[in-house]
Amino acid sequence: MADLARERDIMTIPKVELHVHLNGSISEATASILARRHGADPESALRLVDGRYPGHYPDFQGFLDTYLAANEFVRTPEDLELVAAEFARGQAAQNVVYSEAIFTAMIYVRNGMEPRAMWAALRRGLAAAGPGTGMGIVVDTIRDFGPKEAAATLRLVETADAPIVGLGLTGIEGTVPTASFIPFRAEARRLGLGFEVHAGEMGPPSSIVEAFDVLDADRIGHGVAAIRDPELLARLVRERVVLDVCPSSNVGISEFPTLEAHQMAAFWRAGVNMTISSDDPPFFRTTLTDELRHVVRVAGLDAQDLGELQRRAARHAFAPTGVKDGILGEIERWAAG
Ligand SMILES: [Zn+2]
Repeated sequence: MADLARERDIMTIPKVELHVHLNGSISEATASILARRHGADPESALRLVDGRYPGHYPDFQGFLDTYLAANEFVRTPEDLELVAAEFARGQAAQNVVYSEAIFTAMIYVRNGMEPRAMWAALRRGLAAAGPGTGMGIVVDTIRDFGPKEAAATLRLVETADAPIVGLGLTGIEGTVPTASFIPFRAEARRLGLGFEVHAGEMGPPSSIVEAFDVLDADRIGHGVAAIRDPELLARLVRERVVLDVCPSSNVGISEFPTLEAHQMAAFWRAGVNMTISSDDPPFFRTTLTDELRHVVRVAGLDAQDLGELQRRAARHAFAPTGVKDGILGEIERWAAG
């Protein structure tokens, strides 16, 4: 057996992250600045424990409450620019050469942000990453808010001046019938955008099946429930379905007791076409680099496997072909060096 990928490999590899929420990237420090800016006491308003997000929650709702508490203070374009710039700098610092940031625009519209100013602030903030750090936006709608919210999200996207590469469906599985989002999916196709569906995160394996058979998803967010259904798992492998797996997030909402008990190793061994991401990094006290460390250790990846994981992410990004070829070239240079 080859040696595990070394720390140096993990640090230096050009990284691609496909599943990271911009709204879930607000550090405690930034959220505290924003809370004070809007007259609130950070420690209590943000549900901090010793100045930090808990990192571990009894369930998804527990996480959601903390996430929403932070997002409540992103009210002005200046607030959003600060959040986006922090995200962009964090990605650049980890040598993430391309990110697909999931952005729930409607949260900020509801907070009172004017859409045109919102997109401009997002662009300004993301530019803080500097050249060489690509950014695509996947605008999502929250499942439990239903098809009306999806239609409102779509209107925002149609008038947006932002590097949008995809649409997404997030939120709590099973709350609203999946078929309600067929029009939203069709609009993604009409606009030439990719389509990502969070499924099999807390929901059952059938939720993953619906993501394909009803919504024809290009990528699945999480999909960890597939491990409970061998037939589905075989189908995922056979059809080379892409699962964007976020181990610390699944452990953080108590879907798995520990990283060691997480299914990433079983997925890897079974040949699932998985990629690795951080989801909502500060809320789960992680980073993409940490997630790669976890998968190397738990699934036993060597440097070549690590390269393969990043190539997959690049190939399945919603970015234009030219951008993807550029990223693949960077990974090849890393592998050769
Ligand atoms: Zn997610």
